[in-house]
Amino acid sequence: MSDSQTILHEITQKIHDSETFFEAMPDIEPLLLEFLQSERVTVYSRGRNDKEIVSKFLTSDNGNQPKEIRVPLNTESIAGYVAMSQQPVRIKDVYNDAELTAINERLRFNKSFDKESGFRTKSVLAVPVKFKDVFLGVLQVLNRQNKPEFDDLDEQLALGLAKVLAQKFRYELRGTRSPYDYLVMTKKIHGEKLKELSTRAKNEGTSLEELLVTSGGISKAELGESFSRYFQVPYMGFDAHHTIPPELLKGINLSFLRESLWVPIDGHPEDEVVILIDNPGDARRIMEIQRTLPAKKYVFRVGFAEDILRYLGQGGQSDAATADIHDLVGKLQEEAGLEVHIADEEDEEAAEDEATVIQLVNRIIIDSYKERASDIHIEPAKGKANATVRIRVDGSCRPSLSIPHTHVRAVVSRIKIMSGLDISERRKPQDGKCVVKFRGNPIELRVATVPTVNGESVVMRILASSEPIPLEKLNFSDATLTKVQHIVSQPHGVFLVVGPTGSGKTTTLHSILGSINTPDKKIWTAEDPVEITQPGLNQVQMKNEIGLNFASALRSFLRADPDVIMIGEMRDHETAHIGVEASLTGHFVFSTLHTNSAPETVTRLLDLDLDPVSFSDALQGVLAQRLVRTLCGECKEPYKIPQDEYTTLERYYGEELFSELNVTVNETEIYRAKGCEKCGNTGYYGRTGIHELLVNTETIKSLIYRKAGASEIKDEALKNGMRTLMQDGIRKLFLGQTDLAQVRKVAGS
Ligand SMILES: [Zn+2]
Repeated sequence: MSDSQTILHEITQKIHDSETFFEAMPDIEPLLLEFLQSERVTVYSRGRNDKEIVSKFLTSDNGNQPKEIRVPLNTESIAGYVAMSQQPVRIKDVYNDAELTAINERLRFNKSFDKESGFRTKSVLAVPVKFKDVFLGVLQVLNRQNKPEFDDLDEQLALGLAKVLAQKFRYELRGTRSPYDYLVMTKKIHGEKLKELSTRAKNEGTSLEELLVTSGGISKAELGESFSRYFQVPYMGFDAHHTIPPELLKGINLSFLRESLWVPIDGHPEDEVVILIDNPGDARRIMEIQRTLPAKKYVFRVGFAEDILRYLGQGGQSDAATADIHDLVGKLQEEAGLEVHIADEEDEEAAEDEATVIQLVNRIIIDSYKERASDIHIEPAKGKANATVRIRVDGSCRPSLSIPHTHVRAVVSRIKIMSGLDISERRKPQDGKCVVKFRGNPIELRVATVPTVNGESVVMRILASSEPIPLEKLNFSDATLTKVQHIVSQPHGVFLVVGPTGSGKTTTLHSILGSINTPDKKIWTAEDPVEITQPGLNQVQMKNEIGLNFASALRSFLRADPDVIMIGEMRDHETAHIGVEASLTGHFVFSTLHTNSAPETVTRLLDLDLDPVSFSDALQGVLAQRLVRTLCGECKEPYKIPQDEYTTLERYYGEELFSELNVTVNETEIYRAKGCEKCGNTGYYGRTGIHELLVNTETIKSLIYRKAGASEIKDEALKNGMRTLMQDGIRKLFLGQTDLAQVRKVAGS
């Protein structure tokens, strides 16, 4: 029919000449109607990554504003159904429900447009607009002229027209010609190399995706972007922490999903369901999705087969998506009990098992993190006994769960893989680091494996949140806070934070640095390890093996125009000496020391053979600190202080100063630990700092200068308002924060 060829040619020309298809639409609409011998035409296109198809047209009743019809991908409209099925549909009379349900049970015709416009729709022809296997839109025409319905020839013409539209839509969406085109376009890979890998994939029977990542230097994210450009749906990679809502998997056979390579990833059947599939253009599987999981609407994501399988492995049983750690362990125990199975025919189970181990390791880490643990210990036991997982919370260890002996090695191996350790090396200790994401935030862990007689054990330290705590939240007394703030606002000097390992020195130093971290100051830190990071600081990790230690770092900082220097520890004469010299030449130096009290620190430094004159001039102050466990706010029990406890506390605090606390026997309330669910029946929850701040004064300077003893310095400091660790602890006891047992534990008796 040469007549229709001429019209099609004209349509093609006009589409080609216009910027966008919808711009050309008013012009070509009469041609489209003539071409397909119909009364109405609607063209839907999908926007980039859009979950609906949209038709835009100009109407006079809308003030010449383009009007939009948005159609979701479902079977409740003819265009939506064509979008899902990607097959042409012909209907003789849309008002005949039986004719619609014969095509698809849930297919409906939306009569509202007819009602609004007074138009009566009868016959319909709708065809998908596709470029190769990429769905791009729907062409729909209504009411065949001079005939009761559209016929085969009409459908052929419509499909021919759809091809022209597809070219234009693909161009408008900047769609690519193949899933890998975008990689070539963006020069991520050379076309020749792509061809070579493609051939190799065919010869070796592997997937091209895999080769692109392993041999093509392409990251999965880049590959995902390329897929997304081609299929015009967003890419989704594997996220171990994504949980599939269990209702989506209800009643669906998982091995069927593994075979079909799609997975409902999110949403709700009553509303929108997000489907992850490796080829969103596969009409057969999309219709299969509708049959398997009827939903109101569908949204698609493109992903890699291996990731889809990982989601399905992770899904394991449909309830595993929400399983808690004990279920996972229970699952492993069950599997351990079924050990008699012959291994070689259990490939699928083995894969599922591996997924369970991955899931278990993630859960151990995340649950421990949620319990506020600082360390996680995985300790294999003798023979067939279960391994123990213990966590350290608020400074004390407690058992958290056990792992069947059959799986300990898999769990340890998994942790070693995550931490970049050599999994074949089981006889030597190894150190590494890993990061696990939780709610989008990275949890950093330092990992150490140590071989024991029962097998490899693992200790993971959860590194403190990388944000410094504001100075005001360190629970300083008002007097101490004011003095600390004053000291650190000085232009130069030495300030030391002291206490044993685990007393929170680094946290405090970072809070202090955070309070003075302004753009006008150059701050250098030498740390081992760098646990807390702050923007604006220049933090340097020490590396002894290459000679980068505190002393050498300090020397190089001095050549690097510093205002403030933080040096991890002043443990030797050289470091202490350079630190003092640096402060005397106009810099502020922070450091730590492993000493018990503030006054003792002074004598310890003098023992390092520092020049007493320089040191007494440089020193601004010393803050000694400890962490005490705090009473659980849920269950702590108030009681009025009895005479005997009053006497004890008065003795610990010092009779001369005790009156400043305004305590009255049998009247002032204090608290005792009890125990409840929240605190794991310990009566304690969390920790807080107790502090002892020595501020350097003229008198103390003279004491340092003549190398006075610690007790003499302490007496003078007490006169100036210093309160000892014990005194600060007792003050916090009266604030209801802790009890005497905890204070005595850390501050001596
Ligand atoms: Zn409690």
